Amino acid sequence: MSERFIFTRHRTRCYHCGEDVDQIIKAVSAQAQVICSACGATRIFIPRFESTGAVGTCTPIGRYDLWTLEADGRCKNCGVAGPHDLAIGCNHFTTRCRNCGYAHFYRFNLEYMAKSPIDEEVSAPREPW
Ligand SMILES: [Zn+2]
Ligand SMILES: [Zn+2]
Repeated sequence: MSERFIFTRHRTRCYHCGEDVDQIIKAVSAQAQVICSACGATRIFIPRFESTGAVGTCTPIGRYDLWTLEADGRCKNCGVAGPHDLAIGCNHFTTRCRNCGYAHFYRFNLEYMAKSPIDEEVSAPREPW
């Protein structure tokens, strides 16, 4: 898959290893991931729907804080590469184009511990998939 959409990181306390480290955040149309750069704990989100309409608010529940971030991405709706608003919570992951309002909604799918180190991938984000 050569699509590049969102690739950013957010420093916070890892829910798994407890370290205050960068969490790698990646998203394309088909999937979104959040990966701990220290322990490799990974959360996978899968698409729920896409919308150009209004975005409802989601209630943060569970053991994760709701992260609200900004990341640059190329919108597949308007084609503009620019800031997107990200909202990442326990059960959902949303991205929203600030230019046209096009939003991707993902829902939590699964969680696993990566076995191989991801350092290489992190230092060379050229082809994150
Ligand atoms: Zn961790
Ligand atoms: Zn857009």
